[in-house]
Amino acid sequence: MADANGEAEKDKNKFADSSQLNAPDAAARQNDKKDEALEALNAQWHKVRSRLRAELGEATFNSWFKLLEVAGAQKGRVVLHVPTRFVRSWIEAHYLTRIRDHWKAEDASVRRIDIELQPEWVPSEKKPEIREQKAVAPRRAAAPPQPRAPLPDMPEPIGRDDLGAPLDPRFTFDNFIVGKSNELAHAAAHRLAEGDGVAFNPLFLYGGVGLGKTHLMHAIAWEIRRRTPERTVLYLSAEKFMYQFIRALRFKDTVAFKQQFREVDVLMIDDIQFIAGKDSTQEEFFHTFNALTDHNRQVIVSADRSPTDLEGIEERIRSRLGWGLVADIHPTDYELRLGILQAKAESLSRRTDGSADGARIPQPVLEFLAQRIVTNIRELEGALNRVIAYASFVGRPVTLEMAQDVLRDLLRASDRRVTIDEIQRRVAEYFNVKMGDMLSARRARSVARPRQIAMYLSKQLTTRSLPEIGRKFGGRDHTTVIHAVRKIEQLREEDPALDEDVDLLRRMLEN
Ligand code: ADP
Ligand code: MG
Repeated sequence: MADANGEAEKDKNKFADSSQLNAPDAAARQNDKKDEALEALNAQWHKVRSRLRAELGEATFNSWFKLLEVAGAQKGRVVLHVPTRFVRSWIEAHYLTRIRDHWKAEDASVRRIDIELQPEWVPSEKKPEIREQKAVAPRRAAAPPQPRAPLPDMPEPIGRDDLGAPLDPRFTFDNFIVGKSNELAHAAAHRLAEGDGVAFNPLFLYGGVGLGKTHLMHAIAWEIRRRTPERTVLYLSAEKFMYQFIRALRFKDTVAFKQQFREVDVLMIDDIQFIAGKDSTQEEFFHTFNALTDHNRQVIVSADRSPTDLEGIEERIRSRLGWGLVADIHPTDYELRLGILQAKAESLSRRTDGSADGARIPQPVLEFLAQRIVTNIRELEGALNRVIAYASFVGRPVTLEMAQDVLRDLLRASDRRVTIDEIQRRVAEYFNVKMGDMLSARRARSVARPRQIAMYLSKQLTTRSLPEIGRKFGGRDHTTVIHAVRKIEQLREEDPALDEDVDLLRRMLEN
């Protein structure tokens, strides 16, 4: 791959952009031919895109491929254009082979795919003056990564403390565990924090509550401050932004307000969904946003949903928010949860310096927590803290039984979150029957048994009453549900295979 890319560098000029295919002074016939070629190419690209979309899912596709354009092709080499370097290197590292293979399937003569920067996308390169130099000059801090102690709070220029919100010293990149669900957001955040120029603007981070958005934003802020302390980084919640704005309005101080915000190098606004429906705050935010991005300053925004889903926020703002890089954080998976717990447990035992052995958490306890607390990372940390607090309170080491005991309420709460619909869907999927059969009156064993299992699991895993469960299963009577529950209980004792199926389903549903 390195080889191929070197070659790409060399003949980049031969293939600078698509204008070659549309050269205005070329003979008309030639032009027609080229138009046709480009059209065919676009058709192929269209198919390749559809495959990528189907394969990778909407979110990933939108993050990386939406802005990709086909520029031209020559002798088995297809050139695609991307708007930013970051997107280019990410696609090269992760998707190049896939794109090539798909393209080959459309056109066997295609041998390589090159990703190049869109020619017009060079503002940060063309004017490297203030911004770039500022970011690059004091690289003294770019020491090899060492276990970094949380930074002491740096002295802030007067007034900024007031404007922004303090950064949590625990929210650093070092303390952020990367997994599949957050790898894109982490990579983007990291790329921004490295700070050489504005790679994409804004960075829009979104995901459910407690999944690490604020952590990542603070990590960016810490890292920029560490590398380039002279750059001003302002972090605040959308709520605080609004508060500042309203206060400025009241004290007829909006000029100073605007000034303050427009002077920063990096502006981060957390939980932007908060300004939904707040028209004048939105308006002000939009002006600030535009003023900053026009001057090549970085803006980072987070929300609990994607830009397109931000109801109550004006369409032009929503669309502008999606222009940069949109990175979503998905719900966690088991590996990530375990990784986070292990890191946390380790740092706790380090902190107590071995003196208090009570902080040592046995691996089975961590595994238990990772398996059972699936809602979000904040609750996961809360659960761990609760177990530790309890152990130190009673002066005993942490054990699995203790953890189960301490967390009983919490676990019951998370069990309640399984819905009957979900149970029906999973069971239908597992036994390969139609979802409709869960609700139908069909009595064939092949559908009746899965239906009974779904009823049994609904009784076990939800707090719904028997009549409620019956209603959810095509309006059946509660006695049918009782019968199903008894039947499955009995079969679990007699039939080890069925017992295993039920157990597997239960575990899948609880996670
Ligand atoms: P959000 O802003 O998305 O609601 P936060 O950033 O406040 O979530 O994260 C909630 C808690 O989970 C914080 O204590 C944070 O440190 C922790 N956390 C989130 N993601 C990670 C991660 N990948 N690694 C370690 N800790 C994390
Ligand atoms: Mg947050």
